Amino acid sequence: MRPSHAFPLLAAAWLAACQTVPYTGRSHMMLVSQGEESQLGEQSYKETLTKATLSTDSAKIQLIRKVGMRIAKAADRPDFRWEFNLIQDDKTINAWCLPGGKVAFYTGILPITRDEDGIAVVMGHEIAHALARHGAERMSQGMVAGVGEKALNVLLATQTSVPPGVYQQAYGLGMNLGVLLPFSRKHESEADEIGLILMAKAGYDPVHALAFWKRMAAATGGAGENSPLAQFIRTHPTDGKRQEQIAAWLPDIKAKYYKP
Ligand SMILES: [Zn+2]
Repeated sequence: MRPSHAFPLLAAAWLAACQTVPYTGRSHMMLVSQGEESQLGEQSYKETLTKATLSTDSAKIQLIRKVGMRIAKAADRPDFRWEFNLIQDDKTINAWCLPGGKVAFYTGILPITRDEDGIAVVMGHEIAHALARHGAERMSQGMVAGVGEKALNVLLATQTSVPPGVYQQAYGLGMNLGVLLPFSRKHESEADEIGLILMAKAGYDPVHALAFWKRMAAATGGAGENSPLAQFIRTHPTDGKRQEQIAAWLPDIKAKYYKP
């Protein structure tokens, strides 16, 4: 394809595939269907859990599932097939939610979440990434940027498969592939905002997000952002503005969504 065709392709893709993020109303380009995304999520989830060691601590597992179900109810996605698992790995500070509602926490993040409210902060944030389809958005961007013709084929529905490897990278699941792709600041900020709303709707006071991020900064700060212990920070880059932004959102979100 000649470079001069790239812009019309992008414009056509945008017009054909523009969708809106729930709660924030931001428009984004989506070349992957929710069905395909969920199917890939399910497949990656199975593969990841097969390789992982699952926790046998029933109290902790029950707590993850309790919080998960409450946030899932607030997310109001009957098409998702929710699952919540706890991976036994004290060295990994991480948690994620794949499309279709497939959630994993690593035991390494539990000292930082500390209690049910802290788990709700992370659960809300991770589920927010899935609701806002940030991974699919990254895949779509990658498809247009890297494989323009494939994107066009998807658009024309002549080909519906996602190029291999794009998916794992887009969801930060590259741990096994030696690649960890961070979410952008824009996606982080959006997941923070939607996460607070989900928490509040689920009956958790979103003010706990401030303390959680403070603990996360303290726990990972000493080890450095590039420490293998701090995968959460590597895939969810933070900045000094996060606390400020959360504090600024809190009054409105609490007034609108928090009914304890
Ligand atoms: Zn994030």
